[in-house]
Amino acid sequence: MSHDFLSLANQGVQGLKPYEPGKPIEELERELGIKDIVKLASNENPLGPSQQVKAAIAAAVADLSRYPDASGFTLKQALSEKLSVTPEQLVLGNGSNEVLELIFRAFVQSEHEVIYSQYAFIVYALLTQSCGAVHRTIPAKNYGHDLDAMLAAINDKTKLICVANPNNPTGNYINPSELKKFVEQVPTHVLIVLDEAYFEYLQADEQPPSCDWIGQHPNLIVSRTFSKAYGLAGLRVGYCACHPDIADLLNRVREPFNNNSLALVAAEAALADEAYLNESVTLNTQELGRVCQWLDTKNIQYIPTKGNFVTVDMKGDAMPHYQALLTQGVIVRPIGGYGMPNHLRISIGTKAENDRFMAAFETLGLA
Ligand SMILES: *Cc1c(COP(=O)(O)O)cnc(C)c1O
Repeated sequence: MSHDFLSLANQGVQGLKPYEPGKPIEELERELGIKDIVKLASNENPLGPSQQVKAAIAAAVADLSRYPDASGFTLKQALSEKLSVTPEQLVLGNGSNEVLELIFRAFVQSEHEVIYSQYAFIVYALLTQSCGAVHRTIPAKNYGHDLDAMLAAINDKTKLICVANPNNPTGNYINPSELKKFVEQVPTHVLIVLDEAYFEYLQADEQPPSCDWIGQHPNLIVSRTFSKAYGLAGLRVGYCACHPDIADLLNRVREPFNNNSLALVAAEAALADEAYLNESVTLNTQELGRVCQWLDTKNIQYIPTKGNFVTVDMKGDAMPHYQALLTQGVIVRPIGGYGMPNHLRISIGTKAENDRFMAAFETLGLA
């Protein structure tokens, strides 16, 4: 008996292609039987979690038989102080990816249009597709957002505009004044999702005071994550700040225990550990500078970046180079799925890890 389950699936889901994650270290170990693998594929913090986070997790293990706090009370308190918003303006997600999902689930249906940039974070396209909504993909300008063209694409069916700043997978950055001008021009019936997953990597004067704009612009949703600079990708904690009425709606579609109790205490400890955050950001700034300088001397083109990664132009199909790097024990990220088949996205690791990737490029004759 055979079933055509594809035709049973929701229309949007039928056209969905699964997200392609960075290759896990263990998988490459199994495939090639090699050790000492360097993973620079998922924009993770190479320092590992902070000591304070590890201590907080160890202390919380005793209470694992209890359900977590469904409201995330203490983490929201801490975040609200840091961001100068009220706890009622915050929604916690299982990664900011879940926050994006909640926004789409609460607001987007098949008759709606979602605007995002070509080469933007692929989850916007996946969620638009799974809602069966209309993709309004706006051609990129120098790989980044063409904000004027995005504004021009707004019509009365537009429900959401997604902007990642800095953007992944390109590293492009929109400065605070440009961004503010854009936010001011979006009509209030259109929600703006400002995805700031790499916010902490920006220098202080580069960080848009985006949470401060929510009061004036109630259609603005600012999402951030503990996965990148805070070093907690494995625990899955992200959040958004928005108008309290939007937060209320997102909390209605959120499953009650979406953040586990270890993740909640870890995020709180991470937020309090400013020394670790500073160390992480300083390492990234130094190593990103060093890697870009090396790329310059080797005449390898890359997209100017403000993230914890750099996207290089391999001037031809990047897949064979990706495969060759794997044989050297270096995992980077091919981004053909983003429509950039000639580029590789390389996360910034520790000095030793970055040395490994540069040495592998030289061994393979790529530099
Ligand atoms: C990594 C990333 C996220 C999501 O990360 P989570 O681990 O789900 O918090 C969201 N947006 C962008 C642009 C990212 O690069």
